[in-house]
Amino acid sequence: MPRAAVRAVPSFAGLYTRLQDLRFDDRFVRELPADPREDRGRRQVLGACHSAVTPTPVAAPRLLAYSEPLAAELGLAPALLHDPAFVAVLAGNAVLPGMRPFAACYGGHQFGNWAGQLGDGRAIGLGELVTPAGARVELQLKGAGPTPYSRAGDGRAVLRSSLREFACSEAMHHLGVPTTRALSLVTTGENVVRDMLYDGNPRAEPGAIVCRTAPSFLRFGNYEIFTSRGETDTLARLLEHTVRHHFPALLPTGSVADAQTWAAWFAEVCERTAAMVVHWMRVGFVHGVMNTDNMSVLGLTIDYGPYGWIDDFDLDWTPNTTDAATRRYRFGQQGQVAAWNLARLARAIAPLLPDTGALEQGLSRYVQRYGELQRRSLADKLGLHALVGDDDDPHGDVALVDELFATLSQTPTDMTIFFRRLGALATASFDASSWLSAVQHAWYDDPVDPAARARMLAWLRRWHERCARDGDEPARRRARMDAANPKYVLRNYLAQEAIDAATAGDLSPLSTLMTVLQHPYDEQPEHERLAAKRPEWARTRVGCSMLSCSS
Ligand code: AMP
Ligand code: MG
Repeated sequence: MPRAAVRAVPSFAGLYTRLQDLRFDDRFVRELPADPREDRGRRQVLGACHSAVTPTPVAAPRLLAYSEPLAAELGLAPALLHDPAFVAVLAGNAVLPGMRPFAACYGGHQFGNWAGQLGDGRAIGLGELVTPAGARVELQLKGAGPTPYSRAGDGRAVLRSSLREFACSEAMHHLGVPTTRALSLVTTGENVVRDMLYDGNPRAEPGAIVCRTAPSFLRFGNYEIFTSRGETDTLARLLEHTVRHHFPALLPTGSVADAQTWAAWFAEVCERTAAMVVHWMRVGFVHGVMNTDNMSVLGLTIDYGPYGWIDDFDLDWTPNTTDAATRRYRFGQQGQVAAWNLARLARAIAPLLPDTGALEQGLSRYVQRYGELQRRSLADKLGLHALVGDDDDPHGDVALVDELFATLSQTPTDMTIFFRRLGALATASFDASSWLSAVQHAWYDDPVDPAARARMLAWLRRWHERCARDGDEPARRRARMDAANPKYVLRNYLAQEAIDAATAGDLSPLSTLMTVLQHPYDEQPEHERLAAKRPEWARTRVGCSMLSCSS
């Protein structure tokens, strides 16, 4: 057969190619109580799940990038993304028929304290796009102007944080981590003033808007706000809506939700949250601001702010300078913080249950599930069939993992490179010097402290022996490890390079990064540079290892 005949011909069948074909639904707005006021005045919104608000138009919208894989999933033809009329929608300059834009009301616990009403202060929901396949996906513009929930904020977002959210959402998706997605990144042609490090140095930065998507952006804080105000009826209506549309298996058609439904829902949120955080730990992602208003009830990673990726393995690391004092949201604490947040959600729905027994069971289930999934994940990372628990540990697996973490922490060791190189060793016969040279690629110090080298060698020998006892074919072991240990992640400095270039008008680094990160587990030799460890210049550079909430 001639080559041309087998080349995939792009087919736009089943895709929306024209703006007028797009269909929207507005279930959240239609079914749940609305704020009676429709102006943008900042206020406490009582007894309502949302406030009607339209995006504030911007001066000169320009599409910087869009996610091709997401557009395809949503059934949007590429030409549509380039249509100036659609770009106007993505910038908040136009609203399509069928859309009823809104800001959601929610509260939250921030850094351990109840913060009262927060709400969508700069995100505006446009409604649910009904895809050609019949799925419903909410579109939300982040940075689209003030809402009743903007408090002291301007409702806008800067390019650097928008690019970080856009790129990271998509990178996480391709890593297999549950997440909200990002369809587009648009610059506004307007400046936004931010004091990036809150040190009295405000400056004008280019503004941008990301169009995010998710089945729903509901957060723990959406439920907490009603309980904090004693608005139990609204709470029940929101919960019923959530379960009916987003957890339909828990509420078969025709059945009526009751206390058991709420308890089952809570257990499901616990399960999903456990799975999400275990993925974060697997890929070395630190969310940075795990406040309860940034926790999705669908178990999706949401609100990419001062997040970061682990370069050198350090369980105590947080990218968020705003959290520097207590490091509440540090890498190694994310599992516990999620449990604390789930306990806040349990309290929020407690008024709908006769007692707290079922909720306590849900929380215990979280702890158990987190442990199981974390062991599974570590077993995959180490190429073992299973890691056994503390009670019954014939192979000394608990000590194997503890010793690995201690060894990785003894001298700065790049987490991503280390695990990927370990995978390559799965098919090699043991040899002290070549095995240590493989790990050398992950070490930041040169030369490395001899004690750290010796400790690493001892651990490698131990792991090698453990693998031999596990009795799998080396090639299969390596394949399993390579599927759990990404080669490419959105390293902090790579995101910063893409921001610097985009700010100077060069979008190619962002575009290359997005393409490479679509296949994070594949070797892509021509892009080896994007798998390199953090360069020295990035160690102390703001934006690479230090980020604040200012965005
Ligand atoms: P975050 O820390 O980004 O999760 O935001 C916490 C709260 O502050 C949310 O209610 C946001 O909508 C709000 N917020 C953050 N930045 C702005 C802004 N520039 N304008 C208005 N509200 C904002
Ligand atoms: Mg938030």
